[in-house]
Amino acid sequence: MKYIPTIGLEIHAQLATKTKMFCRCDNDAQGKESNTVVCPLCMGFPGTLPVTNETAIEWGVKTALALGCKINKFQRFDRKNYFYPDLPKGYQISQFFFPVGEHGKVKIDYLAKDRKTKKEFVVGITRLHLEEDAGKLIHTKDGTLVDFNRCGTPLAEIVTEPDIKSPEEARAFMQELQRIVRGLGVSQADMEKGQMRVDANVSVRLEGQKELGTKVEVKNMNSFKFMEQALNYEIDRQTKVLEEGGKIDQETRGWDEKTNTTISQRGKEGSIDYRYFPEPDLPPIVLTDKQIKDWQKILPELPSDWRKAAESFGLSYDRVIELQDKEQLVSFIKTIQADKNLDAMLVANFPNGSMDFYKWATNEKPSNMVSRQVFEAMQKGESLDKAKGQIKVMDENEVKSIVQQVIKDNPGPVEQFKAGESKVLGFLTGQVMAKTKGEAEPALVQQILQKLLTK
Ligand code: ADP
Ligand code: ZN
Ligand code: MG
Repeated sequence: MKYIPTIGLEIHAQLATKTKMFCRCDNDAQGKESNTVVCPLCMGFPGTLPVTNETAIEWGVKTALALGCKINKFQRFDRKNYFYPDLPKGYQISQFFFPVGEHGKVKIDYLAKDRKTKKEFVVGITRLHLEEDAGKLIHTKDGTLVDFNRCGTPLAEIVTEPDIKSPEEARAFMQELQRIVRGLGVSQADMEKGQMRVDANVSVRLEGQKELGTKVEVKNMNSFKFMEQALNYEIDRQTKVLEEGGKIDQETRGWDEKTNTTISQRGKEGSIDYRYFPEPDLPPIVLTDKQIKDWQKILPELPSDWRKAAESFGLSYDRVIELQDKEQLVSFIKTIQADKNLDAMLVANFPNGSMDFYKWATNEKPSNMVSRQVFEAMQKGESLDKAKGQIKVMDENEVKSIVQQVIKDNPGPVEQFKAGESKVLGFLTGQVMAKTKGEAEPALVQQILQKLLTK
């Protein structure tokens, strides 16, 4: 019998606004001393009055739009009441009843682990709402300290439908979300810095069974890698429990980096009653259709749009993904758009080059080595003509003498090669290439090496 996983994510992204959500404190606490970027309001003093940060509203709406959500023109903040030492007011201001947006949908494409296949899936977005962050507890051997700097930082909470079918998909979704919010310029979304945090809900069920299994919520994962590992671990754990005839307890577990396991933190205490009620100190937010349309109009293209465009210009998907990681996709697209006759692979292989270079190399089709030399000289500021004048191509005899030298200097690897270990050829080629300083054609080097070694 086969168990299949289901995953739903709850993500908090810190919005990088200048000031906090409801006060004028500096919202950038990075590297600042504890409890220095605070005021009576975000410290929860009685008698203070919050004022909504309009930029946070705008950014929340833009993010929800980018995630395909339907925007609520009427939004309201609510108090979520609970006690915790990092929450000085005793409640968090959040949007429970009227979130920014709902019913969204994100189409994700990603490169499978084979580094070739393009995979696609769709994730429903349940909701996106705004709220304020809490402070931070710092556990030391002498006791626990509290830092309120983070109190009141605007957060966009994004909840997905249980549509994600593997840890790999969960990771692809998170990475895409990171690219989306960074592309919008609303969050730095660095997981290691806690600017983007994720709670992953995961369950397993028998293949063919309709109802979802009991879910477990996993917290404390501060990187994509840890999230994927935690989910894989949790799926295995749940599967084993069920296979042995046990049942899954609905609980919250934490990822432990030291043991690479999830550890039970707390069971389900029934659902906590937060006594949500409308925040009496803040007026509701009422948006007009025009406002929403205007924001929609200025939304930048989504990362998936850039990828699609790059593919449509003849770039293979794996190359698209490589470029994207180097944030060069946009420059690739702009270059090709400026001159559709350019060789797309060439532009991809030599990112951020000049138009002169691309035109010349597209028309003349020089070897890769010659292209590289010209490209590098031009990157250093040379003109195309000057760079071309400096091209150095070793002739066959020069290459041959270097190959002979390398064979002489590396008797060990040469013996290994002759004993049938053909992979040392790569090492020897590398040695030759290093000595030729990029002035020899790799194909020629290989050819001569092989000839001299097998004679
Ligand atoms: P709760 O009431 O515990 O907050 P929700 O239904 O609001 O649960 O869902 C919270 C998150 O858990 C969502 O991201 C949702 O997609 C996910 N989720 C819900 N049920 C399951 C399940 N059976 N397996 C995996 N994820 C689930
Ligand atoms: Zn403040
Ligand atoms: Mg819920």
